[in-house]
Amino acid sequence: MKKKSKNKSNCQEVILKGQPISPGIAIGKAFILDEDYIETPKERIPVHKIQDQIDKFKQAIHDTTHDLQTIIDQVGMRVSAHKREIFDAHMMILEDSQIIDQTISEIKNKQINADYAYFNIMRNYQRALSASSDSYLKERATDIRDLKRRVIRRIQGIHREQTGNLKDTIVISHELNLFDIYALTNNKVAGIVMQGGGRTTHTTIIIRALELPAIIGVPRILQKIKTDDMLVANGLTGEIILNPEQKTLKKCIKKRNNFKKYEQQYLRVAGVPSVTLDKNKFVVSANIELSDEVDSVIAHGELGIGLFRTEYIFMSEDKLPTEEEQYEKYMTVVKKIYPLPVTIRTFDLGGDKIAPFVETESEKNPFLGWRAIRMCLDMPDIFKKQLRAILRASVLGNVKLMLPLITSIEEIYATKLLIEEVKTELKSQNIDFDPHIPTGIMIEVPSAVMLADRLAKEVDFFSIGTNDLVQYVLAVDRGNARVANLYNFFHPAVLRMIKSTLKAAKKQNIPVSMCGEMAGEPLAVPLLFGLGISEFSVSPVMLLKIKQILRSIKFFEAEKISRHCMRLHTTDEIERYLRGVMDKMFPRMDEDNFFKRSYK
Ligand code: PEP
Ligand code: MG
Repeated sequence: MKKKSKNKSNCQEVILKGQPISPGIAIGKAFILDEDYIETPKERIPVHKIQDQIDKFKQAIHDTTHDLQTIIDQVGMRVSAHKREIFDAHMMILEDSQIIDQTISEIKNKQINADYAYFNIMRNYQRALSASSDSYLKERATDIRDLKRRVIRRIQGIHREQTGNLKDTIVISHELNLFDIYALTNNKVAGIVMQGGGRTTHTTIIIRALELPAIIGVPRILQKIKTDDMLVANGLTGEIILNPEQKTLKKCIKKRNNFKKYEQQYLRVAGVPSVTLDKNKFVVSANIELSDEVDSVIAHGELGIGLFRTEYIFMSEDKLPTEEEQYEKYMTVVKKIYPLPVTIRTFDLGGDKIAPFVETESEKNPFLGWRAIRMCLDMPDIFKKQLRAILRASVLGNVKLMLPLITSIEEIYATKLLIEEVKTELKSQNIDFDPHIPTGIMIEVPSAVMLADRLAKEVDFFSIGTNDLVQYVLAVDRGNARVANLYNFFHPAVLRMIKSTLKAAKKQNIPVSMCGEMAGEPLAVPLLFGLGISEFSVSPVMLLKIKQILRSIKFFEAEKISRHCMRLHTTDEIERYLRGVMDKMFPRMDEDNFFKRSYK
């Protein structure tokens, strides 16, 4: 943490550093969205004021009930039943008469302030539940922690309206989950900064899809920033300026304007052909999570969808989506993108993506557990409904089908059997579908790389999912901030995995795209293109930037770059070399742009 001189309001300008995960520059006041942000100093209350404290407490319970009900009404339809159960659990704890009575007795008997009394009562419950070996009870401890914060803030009178009050603020949190992000989308926040998080978690992916400047992995951020502190969060460099001086603020506003100008300039790339300087074709396509994102993709020019993560349809619905509901969503995207292709990936639930309609037991290692194709094959009725919906949509445009987390040939055989069953059913019902729908697989676990030569004979295309591949190859949890420094696309083992996949696919003459976040990493683009990646499927915010990089290189130069990278021994050497290449290639780019992003 670098300290600089004091500004007019006598607050010191301080620079903090994290990992940029979503480009853009946010300027605004901080809003701490975290249970740790409560201070409850003990106060001795004179006897004649005890009743005031009790009234304050009762009012806080009443108001929090109202707050919760408002949230349930606002976001209720947009979240899963599982998430709504969390709110129901909050409501039950909030109205628990034992907790209320104990708090009132504590205020009376010990003559203490209401927030301190409630904090202690709730902390005792929380501790007891955390110590339990029952995973259900353990989860309730988290509910208590969150609720405790809500009520205490109400007692302390630091309540803010849930809607609109976060507008233009920079939300600071220990770590937001997917549900928090859904709730924030209503609030038009300026940016997000987190202490934890990972570059390729699904929370990060959604933040990027929402085009919100964001930074993760800022150590001890909650101890350093308070609500209403003035901040600049630079999602390009990972720099956070706390209490910026006037002249710093002016500079940052200029940077933000420059960034917006650059963004506008990229739109010029939208209509130009996807060819390199030496006239080699490439494909840039989009990763989407929700069907509404398709309009943003269209605004970036004529681009296809390289990855439609359909699990979000299953997560945002209250119940299991019907075949018809799924069909509507796939059809909308397919028709809008036509004649370009849409690669629909069958649902990849599990891991950090909780399926509300499935009774999942909590798993010790969910990323090594019941996930993706494993879940699909274990629930053939649900899987077949999705396959039917995809096949029906396939006649309306250019559809490819993709399977997640393939680890063996058996999984392909089993899926093919189900696809054939669905085709036979559709035929017998005179329902149209594309009988030759291209079917491909994600290459995202080491076993798939090792078997790539055999898998290539079974499918029509590969798409490399580096988000998972990196975590499985390097044994680094993609969402664990503690080991985030070890999670790196440029590890030589990851590059070898990619190269070996490409080699196997080439032999079988099937195309290989990449839809992991590495494809949207500017530094990686020449290297990947040189290795033979033909399609880069990236988050919409990166579409035109990646296209522009590819338009600025020649294939033979990219090949040279990739050959050199493959000879280097360490991640650091590879990254440094690629940074040098980028600096030479784009010498006039400054830090307001995305090329100079540093992930360190
Ligand atoms: C990947 O693993 O790289 C990928 C694209 O899939 P997801 O991020 O949805 O796991
Ligand atoms: Mg994956």
